[in-house]
Amino acid sequence: MDTFVQLGYLVSAALFILGLKRLSRPRTAVQGNMLGSTGMLVAVIVTLIGTEAAGIGIIIAGVILGGTIGVLLATRVAMTGMPQLVALFNGFGGIASLLVGAATLYPDLAEGVELEATDLATGALTIGIGAITFTGSLVAFAKLQELLTGDITQPAALRAANIGLVAMSAALGVLLVVMSGSIWMWLLALAALAAGITLVLPIGGADMPVVIALLNSFSGVAASTTGFVLGNSLLIIAGALVGASGLVLTLIMCRAMNRSLGNVLFGAIDAVAAGADGDRIYDGKVTSASADDVAMMLDTAAKVAIIPGYGMAVAQAQHAVRDLTRALEGQGKEVVFAIHPVAGRMPGHMNVLLAEAEIPYEQLKEMEHINPSFGQVDVAIVIGANDVVNPDARDDPDSPIAGMPILDADRARTVVVIKRSLSPGFAGVPNPLFALDNTMMLFGDGKAAVEEIITALADL
Ligand code: NDP
Repeated sequence: MDTFVQLGYLVSAALFILGLKRLSRPRTAVQGNMLGSTGMLVAVIVTLIGTEAAGIGIIIAGVILGGTIGVLLATRVAMTGMPQLVALFNGFGGIASLLVGAATLYPDLAEGVELEATDLATGALTIGIGAITFTGSLVAFAKLQELLTGDITQPAALRAANIGLVAMSAALGVLLVVMSGSIWMWLLALAALAAGITLVLPIGGADMPVVIALLNSFSGVAASTTGFVLGNSLLIIAGALVGASGLVLTLIMCRAMNRSLGNVLFGAIDAVAAGADGDRIYDGKVTSASADDVAMMLDTAAKVAIIPGYGMAVAQAQHAVRDLTRALEGQGKEVVFAIHPVAGRMPGHMNVLLAEAEIPYEQLKEMEHINPSFGQVDVAIVIGANDVVNPDARDDPDSPIAGMPILDADRARTVVVIKRSLSPGFAGVPNPLFALDNTMMLFGDGKAAVEEIITALADL
């Protein structure tokens, strides 16, 4: 039986690795997802067959209950709510590790059974990392879901408290290994739970995506140490894969925002009062246009770049954008999509939406490829994007988002910005792009505005 289980785990691990490899390209991502899911199915079936525990009925009931909740959550969540869902899933992973670690150690600790130092150490790591992941993810969820709003008044104090709590958790982990008492385990869990809260609470604005990726990595590390606690090789491998890929993603996102991880965690962006600053930047300088004006501008263009952002997701405008693309291509124009790595609210957000609307991958250009050619773009259509085209990030060293790489939309001959108002984006900072001489603002909902442009183009 054990050989069968281990062989099953080997097949699962191979499927996970192949799945991850395929997930790195949009063209093969769906296949990668299927491979990973099949690997997980094999792992669950093999584990259930190989489980000698009496409570198999409870396990199956848990799988059915958890599976039903998972399907309901995943099918009902709006595309724009995906980061919150990922945060919640990371949190569930964290609490699962915390509970497994505590449930494994507690009976022996309570009865004074002498445990190996390595078992205590892996248990302490599982409980500590699982606890931080759990509360950190809940705070991230609450922030993204806008349940926790407003400025954090004492960010420096919270960061100092966080450092203290992480140090305390480490010390309690050592005490648990050395003294082997259940009291240390509970204190460790409490300190780490508080550390998760103080880690994420002061982080705000544009840094949230990085935090979600980091917590994802933590949940993987916690799962991996849980694998050591349970002596389950597949959990160790799967957790290590999640931990490593989450960390790689975290670093890629840090690079996309030109921030170091330390700076993200301990030097959060202080968003400026966008209202007052916005008035100064926009007053009397904003040119408002109609769909007819935009259609006329497009009529004379040879090269058009479409820059999608979070607002396109909110408006669910991707199908209308595809129709506009086809209309323009029908008139012999070249149309490309400029994709910023953190446009939207989750990594790859725009790629997913545009793929859903059947826009070919070849038409999507990554930031570093399209930026040098913006000078040859006749019309850049910015739809629902804001922070990712904010020239202040490039030009103003005092801007709160200074150094974040942007799409150089302002260098196109004409820029059309489609959004509902002059409101700021996620980072809460005003955008001088809207007040440039070569920019026209088409105010309105993204989908309705694009449909109006299509009609206006047809009527020319
Ligand atoms: P932004 O959040 O900067 O701006 C989105 C804009 O969309 C808003 O200014 C809003 O303006 C507009 N909008 C909202 N609804 C509509 C609608 N129905 N129709 C038209 N426009 C609409 O988006 P970006 O994509 O430019 O930037 C992403 C930001 O999110 C970055 O700061 C990034 O760091 C952050 N982030 C990214 C994540 C990721 O992983 N990609 C995850 C979490 C955050 P108005 O209200 O006037 O319409």
